[in-house]
Amino acid sequence: MIDLKNLTIEKASEAMKNGEYTSVDLARAYLKNIEEKNKELNAYLEVFSDALDQAKKADEMIKNGKQTKMTGIPIAIKDNILIKGKKCGAASKILENYTASYDAFVIKKLKEEGAVFIGRTNMDEFAMGSSTQTSAYGVTRNPHDTERVPGGSSGGSAVAVASLMALVALGTETCGSVRQPASFCGLVGLKPTYGMVSRSGTIAMGNSLDQIAPFGKTVRDAEILFDAIKGEDEMDATSIESVLIPSREGKIIGIPWHLFEEGVDKEVMDNFKESVEKLKNAGYKIVDIKLPYSQYSLAVYYIIMPAEVSTNLSRFDGVRYGPRKDGESVNDEYKKTRSAGFGAEARRRIMIGTYVLSHGYYDAYYKRAWRVRHAIEREFENIFKEVDFVLTPTTPTPAFKLGEKMNDPVAMYLCDIFSAPANIAGITAIALPSGMTGKKLPLSIQFMANHFHEKDLFDIGKKFEEIR
Ligand code: GLN
Repeated sequence: MIDLKNLTIEKASEAMKNGEYTSVDLARAYLKNIEEKNKELNAYLEVFSDALDQAKKADEMIKNGKQTKMTGIPIAIKDNILIKGKKCGAASKILENYTASYDAFVIKKLKEEGAVFIGRTNMDEFAMGSSTQTSAYGVTRNPHDTERVPGGSSGGSAVAVASLMALVALGTETCGSVRQPASFCGLVGLKPTYGMVSRSGTIAMGNSLDQIAPFGKTVRDAEILFDAIKGEDEMDATSIESVLIPSREGKIIGIPWHLFEEGVDKEVMDNFKESVEKLKNAGYKIVDIKLPYSQYSLAVYYIIMPAEVSTNLSRFDGVRYGPRKDGESVNDEYKKTRSAGFGAEARRRIMIGTYVLSHGYYDAYYKRAWRVRHAIEREFENIFKEVDFVLTPTTPTPAFKLGEKMNDPVAMYLCDIFSAPANIAGITAIALPSGMTGKKLPLSIQFMANHFHEKDLFDIGKKFEEIR
């Protein structure tokens, strides 16, 4: 029996290298868990029938001395990252039966290393949501309490790792979609600096915000997966050659207390304060900082993101894939097809986005939102001259009940109040498990760092794993 609960990428690699077990054995162990648990949790939309064949190839690589860090490692992939020849649908009806015709850049890189793709995971439709309840294929449940949500939009990927149905997973971040489910499921989730990971081959939501992002049980696992997928790609003009800055072993942590004076759950707050004490005792210097513009991050996000969503989703018309509805005219056909193909949340955002981009409102909303966005960027640039990290809770509450907030979009949007600043400023951030509530639900804190300072986050993340 392989101890999946305590398994890390490095332990698995070692064991495969020493012949303790093969990649096929490892994939089988995860497939067995999937068989037992996925029906209830609904983390996977599809388990790939060729998973064991992929594992066999990985075993060949290992035998031939070609093993790299990700060789033979079972990984779950969010349903908005393309794998050639496999279905990919962003959990939307409008993309039903779409089969990817090429590999996303990150998939290409992982294939070269011989990683084993176990399956594609459930998500909020087009990555819009914070609970994996807007999927066209049913909700995903939190393994810590199956009456609760796993967070979102990358809820399926988070649950796959948290319930030992994959060793690591990829999700995407537009505004917290990896950190927030990591927080609800007790995992590490990294939001890379904008541009560090190519967006080529991911179904776009908000182009100026999207990043593919890793989940792991440990900081080291998230780091290894991040290292494997990062890098420049000619297919994404915003991707950049890895300019990772070595860790400066920064010791100064700034806390913007004014951002969470209200609306934060008491257990989250108590745990946050305890975490701060632990960091103090470990020799970190804690300073009080002010980020006056950052409190508008979420408001800015809910203008810029829908604007980008409305243009990105305008291409889906049911003509080449997805269910097509006949109409009396071309317009009528579009209307019927798109009304049936998109869920309520996607439609809401298409409408908001169209509105903020329309003549007469463009200046008042869209343009102004970008101005505030630049002010937030500058605010972070300045604050990182004074501190090495900015620390906040990852989410204002632990995992909430299924069904909750579904009829109150604004309450749902507020789940990302602490994740939004990093996406808006394009900086990097990491969510780290920091304890449990009385009801045994995971709690989490988040460190943000300046552009390209992922290594600092891994450094402080590993320290925090020792002291938490
Ligand atoms: N909660 C965010 C939203 O609903 C999540 C976006 C994301 O990161 N994909 O837009």
